[in-house]
Amino acid sequence: MIGRALGRRLSALLRRPLSLYYDPRYRLPLSGLEGATGMEPRRADFAAWWLAASGAVAQRRIRAPSRISIDDLARVHTPRLLESLGQPAVLAGMFGADPEELAADELLDSMRLACGGTLDAARETLRTREPALNLLGGFHHAGPDAAGGFCPIDDVAVAVAAVRAEGFTGRVVVLDLDAHPPDGLAACLAGDPKAFVGSLSGSDWGPVPGADETVLPEGCGDDAYLNALDRLLDRAPRPALAFVIAGGDVLAGDKMGRLGLTLRGVRRRDLTVARWLDGRPQVWLPGGGYSRDAWRVLAGTGTALALRSLRPVPPGYDPLSARFSRIAAELTPGELGDSGELTAEDVEEALGLRPTRQRLLLGFYTAGGMELALHRYGTLQQLARLGYRGFRVEFDQGGAGERVRLLGEADGLDGLHVLVEAILEKRPCAGVPMLYIHWLSLRNPRARFSERRPRLPGQEVPGLGMARETATMLMRMAVRLGLSGMVFRPSHFHLAYSARHSFAFVDPDRQGRFEAMVRDLADLPLLEATQLVAEGRVLMNGQPYAWEADEMAYWLSESPTDPGEVEREKLRVHFTVAPPR
Ligand SMILES: [Zn+2]
Repeated sequence: MIGRALGRRLSALLRRPLSLYYDPRYRLPLSGLEGATGMEPRRADFAAWWLAASGAVAQRRIRAPSRISIDDLARVHTPRLLESLGQPAVLAGMFGADPEELAADELLDSMRLACGGTLDAARETLRTREPALNLLGGFHHAGPDAAGGFCPIDDVAVAVAAVRAEGFTGRVVVLDLDAHPPDGLAACLAGDPKAFVGSLSGSDWGPVPGADETVLPEGCGDDAYLNALDRLLDRAPRPALAFVIAGGDVLAGDKMGRLGLTLRGVRRRDLTVARWLDGRPQVWLPGGGYSRDAWRVLAGTGTALALRSLRPVPPGYDPLSARFSRIAAELTPGELGDSGELTAEDVEEALGLRPTRQRLLLGFYTAGGMELALHRYGTLQQLARLGYRGFRVEFDQGGAGERVRLLGEADGLDGLHVLVEAILEKRPCAGVPMLYIHWLSLRNPRARFSERRPRLPGQEVPGLGMARETATMLMRMAVRLGLSGMVFRPSHFHLAYSARHSFAFVDPDRQGRFEAMVRDLADLPLLEATQLVAEGRVLMNGQPYAWEADEMAYWLSESPTDPGEVEREKLRVHFTVAPPR
Protein backbone atom coordinates (compact mmCIF):
# COMPACT_ATOMS: atom_id res chain seq x y z
CA MET A 1 0.00 0.00 0.00
CA ILE A 2 1.56 3.30 -0.98
CA GLY A 3 0.24 6.67 0.16
CA ARG A 4 -1.58 8.92 -2.25
CA ALA A 5 1.09 11.65 -2.22
CA LEU A 6 3.87 9.16 -2.98
CA GLY A 7 1.68 7.54 -5.63
CA ARG A 8 1.20 10.93 -7.24
CA ARG A 9 4.96 11.58 -7.37
CA LEU A 10 5.62 8.12 -8.83
CA SER A 11 2.94 8.69 -11.46
CA ALA A 12 4.54 12.00 -12.40
CA LEU A 13 7.85 10.18 -12.99
CA LEU A 14 6.35 7.35 -15.01
CA ARG A 15 3.70 9.08 -17.03
CA ARG A 16 3.65 9.44 -20.79
CA PRO A 17 2.73 12.77 -22.31
CA LEU A 18 -1.04 13.27 -22.65
CA SER A 19 -2.89 16.47 -23.51
CA LEU A 20 -6.25 16.85 -21.80
CA TYR A 21 -8.96 19.16 -23.14
CA TYR A 22 -11.43 20.24 -20.48
CA ASP A 23 -13.65 23.15 -19.53
CA PRO A 24 -16.01 23.40 -16.51
CA ARG A 25 -18.69 24.30 -19.07
CA TYR A 26 -18.52 20.68 -20.29
CA ARG A 27 -21.12 20.11 -17.54
CA LEU A 28 -24.39 20.43 -19.43
CA PRO A 29 -26.70 23.10 -17.96
CA LEU A 30 -29.62 20.68 -17.64
CA SER A 31 -30.99 20.22 -14.12
CA GLY A 32 -33.12 17.15 -14.91
CA LEU A 33 -30.55 15.20 -16.93
CA GLU A 34 -29.35 12.88 -14.18
CA GLY A 35 -32.84 11.78 -13.16
CA ALA A 36 -34.10 11.32 -16.72
CA THR A 37 -31.15 9.54 -18.36
CA GLY A 38 -28.82 8.26 -15.64
CA MET A 39 -26.11 10.47 -17.14
CA GLU A 40 -23.59 11.80 -14.59
CA PRO A 41 -23.50 15.50 -15.55
CA ARG A 42 -20.21 15.92 -13.64
CA ARG A 43 -18.41 13.20 -15.59
CA ALA A 44 -15.83 15.49 -17.24
CA ASP A 45 -15.21 17.37 -13.96
CA PHE A 46 -14.69 14.15 -12.00
CA ALA A 47 -12.33 12.68 -14.60
CA ALA A 48 -10.30 15.92 -14.87
CA TRP A 49 -10.02 16.23 -11.07
CA TRP A 50 -8.95 12.60 -10.69
CA LEU A 51 -6.38 12.72 -13.51
CA ALA A 52 -4.82 15.86 -12.00
CA ALA A 53 -5.02 14.64 -8.37
CA SER A 54 -3.55 11.20 -9.17
CA GLY A 55 -0.63 12.73 -11.06
CA ALA A 56 -1.58 11.04 -14.37
CA VAL A 57 -1.75 14.38 -16.17
CA ALA A 58 0.40 17.41 -15.46
CA GLN A 59 -1.54 20.59 -14.66
CA ARG A 60 0.13 22.40 -17.59
CA ARG A 61 -1.13 19.73 -20.02
CA ILE A 62 -4.79 20.52 -19.17
CA ARG A 63 -5.91 22.76 -22.01
CA ALA A 64 -8.99 24.95 -22.39
CA PRO A 65 -10.81 24.12 -25.64
CA SER A 66 -11.67 26.84 -28.15
CA ARG A 67 -15.28 27.28 -29.26
CA ILE A 68 -15.88 25.82 -32.73
CA SER A 69 -16.72 28.39 -35.42
CA ILE A 70 -19.81 28.28 -37.61
CA ASP A 71 -17.48 28.07 -40.64
CA ASP A 72 -15.97 24.87 -39.27
CA LEU A 73 -19.43 23.41 -38.58
CA ALA A 74 -20.67 24.39 -42.05
CA ARG A 75 -18.11 22.10 -43.74
CA VAL A 76 -20.11 19.13 -42.41
CA HIS A 77 -23.61 20.27 -41.47
CA THR A 78 -26.34 21.75 -43.65
CA PRO A 79 -27.56 25.33 -43.10
CA ARG A 80 -30.94 23.84 -42.19
CA LEU A 81 -29.46 21.83 -39.31
CA LEU A 82 -27.33 24.73 -38.06
CA GLU A 83 -30.30 27.12 -38.12
CA SER A 84 -32.48 24.65 -36.22
CA LEU A 85 -29.99 24.59 -33.34
CA GLY A 86 -30.88 28.23 -32.64
CA GLN A 87 -34.40 27.10 -31.71
CA PRO A 88 -34.71 26.11 -28.02
CA ALA A 89 -37.51 23.65 -28.84
CA VAL A 90 -35.19 21.63 -31.12
CA LEU A 91 -32.36 21.45 -28.57
CA ALA A 92 -34.82 20.73 -25.77
CA GLY A 93 -36.28 17.80 -27.71
CA MET A 94 -32.83 16.38 -28.30
CA PHE A 95 -31.89 16.45 -24.60
CA GLY A 96 -35.32 15.64 -23.16
CA ALA A 97 -35.67 19.05 -21.48
CA ASP A 98 -38.45 21.66 -21.38
CA PRO A 99 -38.03 24.51 -23.92
CA GLU A 100 -39.14 27.18 -21.37
CA GLU A 101 -36.54 26.07 -18.87
CA LEU A 102 -33.69 25.31 -21.27
CA ALA A 103 -30.69 27.64 -21.19
CA ALA A 104 -30.30 27.12 -24.94
CA ASP A 105 -27.31 29.43 -25.44
CA GLU A 106 -25.44 27.84 -22.55
CA LEU A 107 -26.17 24.32 -23.81
CA LEU A 108 -25.03 25.17 -27.33
CA ASP A 109 -21.92 26.69 -25.79
CA SER A 110 -21.09 23.37 -24.08
CA MET A 111 -21.49 21.57 -27.40
CA ARG A 112 -19.43 24.09 -29.36
CA LEU A 113 -16.65 23.99 -26.77
CA ALA A 114 -16.61 20.17 -26.92
CA CYS A 115 -16.48 20.25 -30.70
CA GLY A 116 -13.69 22.85 -30.59
CA GLY A 117 -11.85 20.64 -28.08
CA THR A 118 -11.93 17.71 -30.51
CA LEU A 119 -10.51 19.89 -33.31
CA ASP A 120 -7.86 21.40 -31.00
CA ALA A 121 -6.92 17.87 -29.93
CA ALA A 122 -6.66 16.69 -33.57
CA ARG A 123 -4.35 19.58 -34.52
CA GLU A 124 -2.24 19.03 -31.40
CA THR A 125 -1.79 15.28 -31.89
CA LEU A 126 -0.92 15.74 -35.57
CA ARG A 127 1.81 18.16 -34.45
CA THR A 128 3.21 16.16 -31.52
CA ARG A 129 2.18 12.53 -32.33
CA GLU A 130 1.22 12.26 -28.65
CA PRO A 131 -2.28 11.20 -27.59
CA ALA A 132 -4.89 13.82 -26.73
CA LEU A 133 -8.04 13.21 -24.67
CA ASN A 134 -11.02 15.53 -24.92
CA LEU A 135 -13.34 15.09 -21.91
CA LEU A 136 -16.55 15.74 -23.88
CA GLY A 137 -17.27 14.59 -27.43
CA GLY A 138 -17.80 11.63 -29.72
CA PHE A 139 -21.23 12.90 -30.83
CA HIS A 140 -21.58 10.12 -33.39
CA HIS A 141 -25.34 10.29 -33.96
CA ALA A 142 -25.28 13.71 -35.68
CA GLY A 143 -25.33 13.40 -39.47
CA PRO A 144 -24.90 16.15 -42.07
CA ASP A 145 -28.56 17.17 -41.93
CA ALA A 146 -29.93 15.45 -38.83
CA ALA A 147 -29.10 15.67 -35.15
CA GLY A 148 -29.91 12.76 -32.84
CA GLY A 149 -29.57 11.27 -29.36
CA PHE A 150 -27.76 14.01 -27.36
CA CYS A 151 -25.70 14.82 -30.50
CA PRO A 152 -26.57 18.16 -32.11
CA ILE A 153 -23.30 18.39 -34.07
CA ASP A 154 -20.67 15.83 -35.05
CA ASP A 155 -17.36 16.81 -33.48
CA VAL A 156 -15.30 14.03 -35.10
CA ALA A 157 -16.57 14.75 -38.62
CA VAL A 158 -16.09 18.50 -38.09
CA ALA A 159 -12.50 17.95 -36.91
CA VAL A 160 -11.72 15.66 -39.88
CA ALA A 161 -13.13 18.22 -42.33
CA ALA A 162 -11.12 21.03 -40.71
CA VAL A 163 -7.74 19.22 -40.80
CA ARG A 164 -8.50 18.15 -44.39
CA ALA A 165 -9.10 21.83 -45.25
CA GLU A 166 -5.73 22.59 -43.64
CA GLY A 167 -4.02 20.13 -46.01
CA PHE A 168 -3.97 16.82 -44.11
CA THR A 169 -4.41 14.01 -46.65
CA GLY A 170 -3.55 10.89 -44.60
CA ARG A 171 -5.80 8.02 -43.62
CA VAL A 172 -8.31 8.66 -40.84
CA VAL A 173 -9.46 5.73 -38.69
CA VAL A 174 -12.35 6.06 -36.26
CA LEU A 175 -12.68 3.29 -33.69
CA ASP A 176 -16.18 3.73 -32.30
CA LEU A 177 -16.25 1.75 -29.06
CA ASP A 178 -19.41 3.38 -27.72
CA ALA A 179 -22.26 0.92 -27.13
CA HIS A 180 -24.31 2.47 -29.95
CA PRO A 181 -23.70 2.47 -33.72
CA PRO A 182 -21.98 5.42 -35.48
CA ASP A 183 -24.92 6.17 -37.78
CA GLY A 184 -24.47 9.93 -38.09
CA LEU A 185 -20.68 9.86 -38.19
CA ALA A 186 -20.54 7.24 -40.96
CA ALA A 187 -22.96 9.38 -42.99
CA CYS A 188 -20.78 12.48 -42.47
CA LEU A 189 -17.59 10.67 -43.56
CA ALA A 190 -19.22 8.86 -46.52
CA GLY A 191 -17.58 11.17 -49.05
CA ASP A 192 -14.05 10.78 -47.63
CA PRO A 193 -12.31 7.86 -49.44
CA LYS A 194 -9.46 7.82 -46.91
CA ALA A 195 -11.65 7.44 -43.83
CA PHE A 196 -12.41 4.12 -42.10
CA VAL A 197 -15.06 3.75 -39.39
CA GLY A 198 -14.92 0.57 -37.31
CA SER A 199 -17.46 -0.01 -34.57
CA LEU A 200 -18.36 -2.46 -31.81
CA SER A 201 -21.83 -1.89 -30.44
CA GLY A 202 -24.47 -3.60 -28.37
CA SER A 203 -27.55 -2.37 -30.24
CA ASP A 204 -28.69 -3.44 -33.69
CA TRP A 205 -30.05 -0.38 -35.49
CA GLY A 206 -29.93 -2.10 -38.89
CA PRO A 207 -27.17 -1.62 -41.47
CA VAL A 208 -24.80 1.32 -40.94
CA PRO A 209 -23.59 2.15 -44.47
CA GLY A 210 -19.92 3.07 -44.56
CA ALA A 211 -19.04 1.48 -41.20
CA ASP A 212 -17.39 -1.83 -40.29
CA GLU A 213 -19.94 -2.60 -37.61
CA THR A 214 -20.03 -5.57 -35.23
CA VAL A 215 -23.15 -5.93 -33.08
CA LEU A 216 -22.36 -7.89 -29.94
CA PRO A 217 -24.99 -9.88 -28.02
CA GLU A 218 -26.84 -8.31 -25.10
CA GLY A 219 -24.89 -8.50 -21.83
CA CYS A 220 -21.62 -9.29 -23.70
CA GLY A 221 -18.81 -9.63 -21.14
CA ASP A 222 -15.12 -8.70 -21.12
CA ASP A 223 -13.60 -11.69 -22.93
CA ALA A 224 -16.05 -11.84 -25.84
CA TYR A 225 -15.79 -8.07 -26.24
CA LEU A 226 -11.98 -8.06 -26.23
CA ASN A 227 -11.95 -10.90 -28.79
CA ALA A 228 -14.19 -8.89 -31.10
CA LEU A 229 -11.94 -5.87 -30.56
CA ASP A 230 -8.86 -7.87 -31.62
CA ARG A 231 -10.62 -8.93 -34.79
CA LEU A 232 -11.67 -5.35 -35.55
CA LEU A 233 -8.07 -4.15 -35.07
CA ASP A 234 -6.90 -6.93 -37.45
CA ARG A 235 -9.22 -5.60 -40.15
CA ALA A 236 -8.64 -1.87 -39.58
CA PRO A 237 -6.06 -0.04 -41.71
CA ARG A 238 -3.16 1.72 -39.96
CA PRO A 239 -4.12 5.36 -39.37
CA ALA A 240 -2.27 8.61 -39.97
CA LEU A 241 -4.85 10.11 -37.59
CA ALA A 242 -7.12 8.10 -35.28
CA PHE A 243 -10.22 8.98 -33.29
CA VAL A 244 -11.25 6.61 -30.52
CA ILE A 245 -14.75 6.95 -29.07
CA ALA A 246 -14.08 5.18 -25.79
CA GLY A 247 -17.75 4.93 -24.77
CA GLY A 248 -18.61 4.63 -21.08
CA ASP A 249 -21.94 2.99 -21.87
CA VAL A 250 -20.34 -0.43 -22.47
CA LEU A 251 -20.33 -0.92 -18.69
CA ALA A 252 -22.69 -3.53 -17.19
CA GLY A 253 -25.80 -1.85 -15.74
CA ASP A 254 -25.65 1.20 -18.01
CA LYS A 255 -29.12 2.70 -18.42
CA MET A 256 -28.88 3.00 -22.22
CA GLY A 257 -26.15 0.56 -23.28
CA ARG A 258 -26.81 -3.19 -23.38
CA LEU A 259 -23.30 -4.61 -22.99
CA GLY A 260 -21.91 -6.07 -19.78
CA LEU A 261 -18.26 -5.04 -19.38
CA THR A 262 -16.56 -4.57 -16.01
CA LEU A 263 -14.45 -1.50 -15.21
CA ARG A 264 -11.36 -3.69 -15.54
CA GLY A 265 -12.57 -4.98 -18.91
CA VAL A 266 -13.06 -1.42 -20.18
CA ARG A 267 -9.54 -0.53 -19.02
CA ARG A 268 -8.19 -3.55 -20.93
CA ARG A 269 -10.09 -2.30 -23.99
CA ASP A 270 -8.39 1.09 -23.72
CA LEU A 271 -4.93 -0.43 -23.12
CA THR A 272 -5.34 -2.72 -26.16
CA VAL A 273 -6.22 0.20 -28.41
CA ALA A 274 -3.53 2.47 -26.92
CA ARG A 275 -0.85 -0.16 -27.70
CA TRP A 276 -2.22 -0.65 -31.23
CA LEU A 277 -2.03 3.10 -31.85
CA ASP A 278 1.35 3.62 -30.17
CA GLY A 279 3.27 6.49 -31.74
CA ARG A 280 0.44 7.52 -34.07
CA PRO A 281 -1.59 10.74 -33.84
CA GLN A 282 -4.74 9.93 -31.86
CA VAL A 283 -7.69 11.74 -30.30
CA TRP A 284 -9.68 10.00 -27.57
CA LEU A 285 -13.28 10.90 -26.75
CA PRO A 286 -15.71 9.70 -24.06
CA GLY A 287 -18.89 9.14 -26.12
CA GLY A 288 -21.88 8.09 -23.97
CA GLY A 289 -22.14 6.80 -20.42
CA TYR A 290 -25.35 6.60 -18.39
CA SER A 291 -24.38 5.15 -15.03
CA ARG A 292 -22.94 6.29 -11.74
CA ASP A 293 -19.54 4.83 -12.69
CA ALA A 294 -19.30 6.36 -16.19
CA TRP A 295 -16.77 8.90 -14.89
CA ARG A 296 -14.53 6.03 -13.73
CA VAL A 297 -14.43 4.75 -17.31
CA LEU A 298 -13.31 8.17 -18.54
CA ALA A 299 -10.77 8.62 -15.73
CA GLY A 300 -9.58 5.10 -16.61
CA THR A 301 -9.12 6.03 -20.28
CA GLY A 302 -6.83 8.88 -19.20
CA THR A 303 -4.97 6.54 -16.82
CA ALA A 304 -4.55 3.94 -19.60
CA LEU A 305 -3.09 6.56 -21.95
CA ALA A 306 -0.83 8.29 -19.41
CA LEU A 307 0.29 5.39 -17.22
CA ARG A 308 -0.56 2.23 -19.21
CA SER A 309 -1.87 0.96 -15.91
CA LEU A 310 -4.68 -1.41 -14.90
CA ARG A 311 -4.81 0.08 -11.41
CA PRO A 312 -8.44 1.12 -10.75
CA VAL A 313 -9.62 4.43 -9.35
CA PRO A 314 -10.04 3.49 -5.63
CA PRO A 315 -13.61 2.14 -5.28
CA GLY A 316 -14.54 4.42 -2.34
CA TYR A 317 -13.07 7.56 -3.89
CA ASP A 318 -15.61 10.41 -4.10
CA PRO A 319 -14.19 13.10 -6.42
CA LEU A 320 -16.64 15.75 -5.21
CA SER A 321 -15.76 15.23 -1.58
CA ALA A 322 -12.01 15.27 -2.36
CA ARG A 323 -12.35 18.44 -4.42
CA PHE A 324 -14.50 20.28 -1.85
CA SER A 325 -12.17 19.31 0.96
CA ARG A 326 -9.26 20.93 -0.92
CA ILE A 327 -11.30 24.09 -1.55
CA ALA A 328 -12.45 24.16 2.09
CA ALA A 329 -8.82 24.00 3.23
CA GLU A 330 -8.19 27.24 1.30
CA LEU A 331 -11.17 29.05 2.89
CA THR A 332 -9.99 30.71 6.11
CA PRO A 333 -12.18 31.09 9.23
CA GLY A 334 -11.90 34.87 8.74
CA GLU A 335 -13.42 34.61 5.26
CA LEU A 336 -16.33 32.43 6.37
CA GLY A 337 -17.09 33.66 9.84
CA ASP A 338 -17.16 36.77 11.95
CA SER A 339 -14.09 38.96 11.57
CA GLY A 340 -14.88 40.71 14.86
CA GLU A 341 -14.81 44.13 13.20
CA LEU A 342 -17.77 46.44 13.80
CA THR A 343 -19.72 47.57 10.74
CA ALA A 344 -21.99 50.65 10.48
CA GLU A 345 -24.96 48.24 10.66
CA ASP A 346 -23.67 46.80 13.95
CA VAL A 347 -23.47 50.28 15.46
CA GLU A 348 -26.97 51.19 14.27
CA GLU A 349 -28.30 47.93 15.72
CA ALA A 350 -26.60 48.57 19.04
CA LEU A 351 -28.16 52.04 19.17
CA GLY A 352 -31.61 50.59 18.39
CA LEU A 353 -31.73 52.44 15.06
CA ARG A 354 -32.46 49.26 13.11
CA PRO A 355 -33.95 45.87 13.97
CA THR A 356 -31.58 43.16 15.22
CA ARG A 357 -30.49 40.77 12.49
CA GLN A 358 -29.37 37.22 12.92
CA ARG A 359 -25.73 37.73 12.08
CA LEU A 360 -24.25 34.27 12.35
CA LEU A 361 -25.43 30.85 11.25
CA LEU A 362 -24.68 28.10 13.79
CA GLY A 363 -22.67 30.64 15.74
CA PHE A 364 -20.00 30.86 13.02
CA TYR A 365 -20.88 31.65 9.39
CA THR A 366 -21.70 35.11 8.10
CA ALA A 367 -24.01 35.47 5.09
CA GLY A 368 -21.10 36.96 3.17
CA GLY A 369 -18.93 34.00 4.15
CA MET A 370 -21.58 31.56 2.91
CA GLU A 371 -21.81 33.40 -0.40
CA LEU A 372 -18.04 33.32 -0.81
CA ALA A 373 -18.00 29.56 -0.13
CA LEU A 374 -20.79 28.95 -2.67
CA HIS A 375 -18.75 30.87 -5.20
CA ARG A 376 -15.51 28.98 -4.51
CA TYR A 377 -17.26 25.60 -4.74
CA GLY A 378 -18.58 26.61 -8.17
CA THR A 379 -22.25 26.43 -7.07
CA LEU A 380 -23.19 29.99 -8.03
CA GLN A 381 -21.57 29.59 -11.45
CA GLN A 382 -23.61 26.45 -12.10
CA LEU A 383 -26.81 28.21 -10.95
CA ALA A 384 -25.99 31.10 -13.32
CA ARG A 385 -25.79 28.62 -16.19
CA LEU A 386 -29.28 27.37 -15.22
CA GLY A 387 -30.63 30.93 -15.61
CA TYR A 388 -30.24 32.47 -12.12
CA ARG A 389 -28.39 35.57 -10.91
CA GLY A 390 -28.35 38.30 -8.22
CA PHE A 391 -27.71 35.78 -5.43
CA ARG A 392 -28.23 36.56 -1.75
CA VAL A 393 -27.86 34.45 1.41
CA GLU A 394 -30.24 35.12 4.33
CA PHE A 395 -30.50 33.67 7.85
CA ASP A 396 -33.34 33.59 10.36
CA GLN A 397 -34.95 31.31 12.96
CA GLY A 398 -36.95 28.50 11.37
CA GLY A 399 -38.93 26.38 13.81
CA ALA A 400 -36.68 23.54 14.95
CA GLY A 401 -33.42 25.23 14.03
CA GLU A 402 -31.76 28.05 12.14
CA ARG A 403 -32.91 28.71 8.60
CA VAL A 404 -30.53 29.58 5.77
CA ARG A 405 -31.79 30.46 2.33
CA LEU A 406 -30.11 31.17 -0.98
CA LEU A 407 -32.24 33.57 -3.01
CA GLY A 408 -31.82 34.58 -6.62
CA GLU A 409 -33.44 36.30 -9.57
CA ALA A 410 -34.55 34.06 -12.42
CA ASP A 411 -34.43 34.64 -16.17
CA GLY A 412 -38.01 34.99 -17.41
CA LEU A 413 -39.61 35.29 -13.92
CA ASP A 414 -40.30 38.34 -11.71
CA GLY A 415 -38.96 38.86 -8.21
CA LEU A 416 -36.62 36.95 -5.92
CA HIS A 417 -36.89 33.16 -5.64
CA VAL A 418 -35.81 30.69 -2.99
CA LEU A 419 -33.34 28.32 -4.65
CA VAL A 420 -31.99 26.52 -1.60
CA GLU A 421 -33.53 26.39 1.85
CA ALA A 422 -32.16 24.50 4.83
CA ILE A 423 -33.05 24.37 8.53
CA LEU A 424 -30.02 23.35 10.55
CA GLU A 425 -29.15 22.71 14.16
CA LYS A 426 -26.16 21.46 16.15
CA ARG A 427 -27.65 18.57 18.10
CA PRO A 428 -26.51 15.28 19.61
CA CYS A 429 -27.38 11.99 17.97
CA ALA A 430 -26.25 8.59 19.30
CA GLY A 431 -24.34 10.51 21.97
CA VAL A 432 -22.18 12.71 19.71
CA PRO A 433 -22.72 16.24 18.33
CA MET A 434 -24.02 16.22 14.76
CA LEU A 435 -25.18 18.70 12.13
CA TYR A 436 -28.92 18.05 12.15
CA ILE A 437 -30.68 18.88 8.88
CA HIS A 438 -34.34 19.39 9.75
CA TRP A 439 -35.28 20.52 6.27
CA LEU A 440 -33.54 20.79 2.93
CA SER A 441 -35.08 21.89 -0.31
CA LEU A 442 -33.42 22.59 -3.67
CA ARG A 443 -35.78 24.44 -5.94
CA ASN A 444 -35.67 25.22 -9.64
CA PRO A 445 -38.65 27.57 -10.16
CA ARG A 446 -37.77 27.94 -13.87
CA ALA A 447 -38.48 24.24 -14.43
CA ARG A 448 -41.84 22.49 -14.74
CA PHE A 449 -42.88 18.96 -14.01
CA SER A 450 -43.60 16.98 -17.15
CA GLU A 451 -43.98 13.41 -18.27
CA ARG A 452 -40.22 13.19 -18.68
CA ARG A 453 -39.68 14.93 -15.38
CA PRO A 454 -42.41 13.72 -13.06
CA ARG A 455 -43.14 15.13 -9.62
CA LEU A 456 -41.66 13.06 -6.80
CA PRO A 457 -43.68 12.71 -3.58
CA GLY A 458 -43.16 15.81 -1.43
CA GLN A 459 -41.76 17.98 -4.27
CA GLU A 460 -43.28 21.44 -4.88
CA VAL A 461 -41.10 22.39 -7.85
CA PRO A 462 -38.41 20.41 -9.71
CA GLY A 463 -34.95 20.30 -8.15
CA LEU A 464 -31.70 21.87 -9.30
CA GLY A 465 -29.77 18.67 -10.01
CA MET A 466 -27.27 19.76 -7.35
CA ALA A 467 -28.11 17.52 -4.40
CA ARG A 468 -24.63 15.98 -4.33
CA GLU A 469 -22.93 19.38 -4.19
CA THR A 470 -25.29 20.50 -1.42
CA ALA A 471 -24.76 17.39 0.70
CA THR A 472 -20.99 17.68 0.26
CA MET A 473 -21.02 21.35 1.32
CA LEU A 474 -23.09 20.50 4.41
CA MET A 475 -20.53 17.83 5.21
CA ARG A 476 -17.75 20.45 4.96
CA MET A 477 -19.76 22.59 7.41
CA ALA A 478 -19.93 19.68 9.86
CA VAL A 479 -16.14 19.27 9.60
CA ARG A 480 -15.56 23.02 10.06
CA LEU A 481 -17.80 23.13 13.14
CA GLY A 482 -16.03 20.14 14.71
CA LEU A 483 -19.12 17.89 14.56
CA SER A 484 -19.14 14.10 14.13
CA GLY A 485 -21.30 14.00 11.01
CA MET A 486 -24.75 14.94 9.79
CA VAL A 487 -28.25 13.61 10.22
CA PHE A 488 -31.56 13.95 8.42
CA ARG A 489 -34.93 12.21 8.38
CA PRO A 490 -35.85 11.09 4.84
CA SER A 491 -39.56 11.79 4.44
CA HIS A 492 -39.80 9.45 1.43
CA PHE A 493 -38.18 6.31 0.07
CA HIS A 494 -36.48 8.10 -2.85
CA LEU A 495 -34.67 10.48 -0.48
CA ALA A 496 -33.22 7.61 1.55
CA TYR A 497 -32.42 5.78 -1.69
CA SER A 498 -30.49 8.74 -3.12
CA ALA A 499 -28.55 9.18 0.13
CA ARG A 500 -27.80 5.48 0.64
CA HIS A 501 -24.20 5.56 -0.61
CA SER A 502 -23.11 7.91 2.21
CA PHE A 503 -25.88 7.77 4.82
CA ALA A 504 -27.30 4.91 6.88
CA PHE A 505 -30.20 4.75 9.34
CA VAL A 506 -28.93 5.14 12.90
CA ASP A 507 -31.14 2.31 14.16
CA PRO A 508 -29.71 -0.96 12.75
CA ASP A 509 -33.17 -2.59 12.49
CA ARG A 510 -34.43 0.35 10.49
CA GLN A 511 -31.37 0.11 8.22
CA GLY A 512 -32.05 -3.60 7.77
CA ARG A 513 -35.66 -2.92 6.73
CA PHE A 514 -34.49 -0.23 4.32
CA GLU A 515 -31.89 -2.51 2.71
CA ALA A 516 -34.54 -5.22 2.37
CA MET A 517 -36.82 -2.70 0.66
CA VAL A 518 -34.05 -1.65 -1.76
CA ARG A 519 -33.44 -5.36 -2.49
CA ASP A 520 -37.11 -6.25 -2.98
CA LEU A 521 -38.10 -3.20 -5.06
CA ALA A 522 -34.95 -3.28 -7.26
CA ASP A 523 -36.89 -4.15 -10.41
CA LEU A 524 -39.14 -1.06 -10.18
CA PRO A 525 -38.15 2.37 -11.48
CA LEU A 526 -37.34 4.63 -8.50
CA LEU A 527 -40.29 6.94 -9.20
CA GLU A 528 -42.75 4.08 -9.18
CA ALA A 529 -41.22 2.55 -6.04
CA THR A 530 -41.35 5.80 -4.03
CA GLN A 531 -44.94 6.45 -5.14
CA LEU A 532 -46.03 2.95 -4.14
CA VAL A 533 -44.39 3.33 -0.71
CA ALA A 534 -45.99 6.78 -0.23
CA GLU A 535 -49.43 5.38 -1.19
CA GLY A 536 -49.07 2.57 1.36
CA ARG A 537 -49.18 -0.10 -1.36
CA VAL A 538 -45.96 -1.80 -0.28
CA LEU A 539 -46.43 -4.61 2.23
CA MET A 540 -43.87 -5.86 4.76
CA ASN A 541 -44.15 -9.61 5.37
CA GLY A 542 -47.67 -9.35 3.93
CA GLN A 543 -48.80 -6.55 6.28
CA PRO A 544 -49.41 -2.85 5.47
CA TYR A 545 -46.23 -0.84 5.95
CA ALA A 546 -45.97 2.89 6.66
CA TRP A 547 -42.68 4.58 5.69
CA GLU A 548 -40.54 5.26 8.79
CA ALA A 549 -38.85 8.66 8.48
CA ASP A 550 -36.17 7.82 11.05
CA GLU A 551 -32.76 9.41 11.43
CA MET A 552 -30.18 8.69 8.75
CA ALA A 553 -26.58 9.67 9.52
CA TYR A 554 -23.38 10.31 7.66
CA TRP A 555 -20.50 9.61 10.03
CA LEU A 556 -17.24 11.51 9.77
CA SER A 557 -15.90 9.08 12.34
CA GLU A 558 -16.53 5.34 12.30
CA SER A 559 -20.21 4.35 12.18
CA PRO A 560 -21.46 2.97 15.52
CA THR A 561 -23.94 0.65 13.72
CA ASP A 562 -23.47 -3.11 14.09
CA PRO A 563 -23.59 -4.67 10.60
CA GLY A 564 -24.72 -8.01 12.06
CA GLU A 565 -27.94 -6.50 13.42
CA VAL A 566 -28.63 -4.85 10.05
CA GLU A 567 -28.19 -8.18 8.27
CA ARG A 568 -30.51 -10.05 10.67
CA GLU A 569 -33.39 -7.62 10.11
CA LYS A 570 -32.73 -7.56 6.36
CA LEU A 571 -33.15 -11.35 6.23
CA ARG A 572 -36.25 -11.27 8.46
CA VAL A 573 -38.38 -8.92 6.34
CA HIS A 574 -39.64 -9.05 2.77
CA PHE A 575 -41.48 -6.38 0.84
CA THR A 576 -44.09 -6.98 -1.82
CA VAL A 577 -46.37 -4.70 -3.78
CA ALA A 578 -50.09 -5.05 -3.07
CA PRO A 579 -52.39 -5.19 -6.11
CA PRO A 580 -54.23 -1.91 -6.86
CA ARG A 581 -57.37 -1.47 -4.78
ZN1 LIG B 1 -23.81 5.40 -26.78
